[in-house]
Amino acid sequence: MGETLKVAHARSLRDGDAASDYPRMAERALIGAVAAALLTALARRYGTLDESGQWGAFACGVAASIAGWPWALLLVAYFAAATGVTRFRADKKAEQTLGTNPQVAPRTAPQVLANGGLFCVLAVQAGPNVASVWGLAAVGALAAASADTWATEIGTLWGGQPRSIATWRPTLPGMSGGVTWVGTLAALAGATLVALAAAWLHQIEPTQPFVIAIIVGGFAGSTVDSFLGGTVQTRRWCEHCRAWTERRVHPCSYRTVHTHGYRWFSNDVVNAAATVAGAAATIGAARLLR
Ligand SMILES: [Zn+2]
Repeated sequence: MGETLKVAHARSLRDGDAASDYPRMAERALIGAVAAALLTALARRYGTLDESGQWGAFACGVAASIAGWPWALLLVAYFAAATGVTRFRADKKAEQTLGTNPQVAPRTAPQVLANGGLFCVLAVQAGPNVASVWGLAAVGALAAASADTWATEIGTLWGGQPRSIATWRPTLPGMSGGVTWVGTLAALAGATLVALAAAWLHQIEPTQPFVIAIIVGGFAGSTVDSFLGGTVQTRRWCEHCRAWTERRVHPCSYRTVHTHGYRWFSNDVVNAAATVAGAAATIGAARLLR
């Protein structure tokens, strides 16, 4: 009897008995805050984040640390890969998208949280239970953000002429809603990277349906991103620069004209919606594969 109780207690500890885990959570919050402060300061110094983006990423990093070290390391792996793929031949990509994205700016807090916010909230919910619904949703949300970044960056570089996912008509490189075959493969790669990293960090066999569900879910999320980006996302025109933008007032200080989509449906709203879609699709795929 005593033996059974001991085993049950050990199991509840391992599975994250909330009350007994508080001291460890506080410890992780402290160490995570130090690590997140250092990493986000570095990212800001190299122009990846602006001041608000640094705070957003810091908050997300502390939340992921509280959730558990595998979650924090998964966030770092995603961020490092996304930064790397964004920086890779940035000058050539800027040339390709001239007129749609005139400059690559440091990421702001809304941009950071649109991509990583849902992941952090769900990871805290999941705690050590990565195979739970919350855990699957968390990894799926991050896989969608990763897939979208990879598709955009690699697709712009090597994809050639994009077509609108909604109308299949040719569109300008860098324009939301445009897709290419290279970008589609890159989306799969971005989702696969998160799926394999999650499996490795959480010590789950990479052959488990878990991994396939995340790849499918992340890819579905990035497809939703392209579709919303090409249909309902706001688009404005600067007559002075003859360029598409989301800003009401262009960096050239010219007032822009609203031409497409809903005014409030910014790229950040699209990205946040894509992570929700990625989370939901991952749960759905996991149910089907079980
Ligand atoms: Zn302008």
